[in-house]
Amino acid sequence: MSRLQTGLASPLHRLATGSRVVVTGGAGFVGSHLCDELLRRGCRVHAVDDLSTGRPGNLAPDPGLRLTVASVAEPEVARRLCGDADLVFHLAGVVGVQRLAAAPVEVMRRNLRCTEAVLDAAAAAGVPLLLASSSEVYGDGPVPFRERDPVRPGVPEGPRGGYAFAKAMGEWLAFAHRAGSGWPVAVVRLFNTVGPRQTGEHGMVLPRFVDQALRGEPITVFGDGAQTRCFAHVREVVRALADLVGAPGIAGRVVNVGSDQETSIAELAAIVQRAAGTSAPIVRLPLTAVFPAGFVDPSRRRPCLERLRAAIGWAPSIPVAGIVEELVALGRATSRPVTAASCPGPAS
Ligand code: UDP
Repeated sequence: MSRLQTGLASPLHRLATGSRVVVTGGAGFVGSHLCDELLRRGCRVHAVDDLSTGRPGNLAPDPGLRLTVASVAEPEVARRLCGDADLVFHLAGVVGVQRLAAAPVEVMRRNLRCTEAVLDAAAAAGVPLLLASSSEVYGDGPVPFRERDPVRPGVPEGPRGGYAFAKAMGEWLAFAHRAGSGWPVAVVRLFNTVGPRQTGEHGMVLPRFVDQALRGEPITVFGDGAQTRCFAHVREVVRALADLVGAPGIAGRVVNVGSDQETSIAELAAIVQRAAGTSAPIVRLPLTAVFPAGFVDPSRRRPCLERLRAAIGWAPSIPVAGIVEELVALGRATSRPVTAASCPGPAS
């Protein structure tokens, strides 16, 4: 029986000591934490990153780890990586709303090309793959977001939906490859993920707030602050990714990964202000002052985590206040802003 016909309920790959795992975007924020988790599980990890935003410094030297600096958008690079792997996590991509607002064509093009090349190569080699997609595909729809909901990237005249559409296109492409061959592929939609090494330079709210608070600068809430997000600690998110690939019945599925505890951005600012013990004020900036015209800032974002729980019996649980405390302490300990200290660069 071929590698691709081994049963629908098989996991993508049960991680074991010596598993050869490729992580694209492996020097980025989520990617580097995933490499750490895989190394803890005894895997041989091959991180690949073009260092456009990832940093080698995010990866501690380890005999089980190899870093290749290259773009997976190059079909030959993608083929070489997949030819030598038991499993691929495809995380490489350009993220950050500010980058999207500033360079939408580049963001869409790079995300599409990377994903196309990696999926083509992995499907041709029959190597199982977990594709990192994004909660952005749900757009500004009603919460909680369920995996079977239609995607809602928005209108093409608007500036934000292109990122979401490129991510959704990757999902379709993955399942189209699978339809022809039974290739073991699954998709995770990552919700707001935070933690050490995340940089605020491209728009991520929590490192920006922590940075501002530790500098004693105003904490800048965009809009009225009533918009909500659910923040999960990156260490819990990567544990979920590593567990998911071993879950039976995961192939051919989309799974939300993140926290389902909603926090408004105004509350988040207050939590950071308290944790940092700063007298820095919280200021509100109108959305029109920070985003291009027509930019949609989703009002609520909360996943349904039933599939995640059913697959691995567990969901991220560290409360946002605990994450903030860790980041504030880390920022203080390094006596530099947390955004620059541990995170010279990202992936979702
Ligand atoms: N945000 C904010 N101040 C900032 C950066 C972001 O109020 O300095 C808001 C942003 O408008 C959004 C939320 O925080 O409503 C989360 O933004 P982020 O870029 O982290 O993620 P996403 O919008 O993709 O969920």
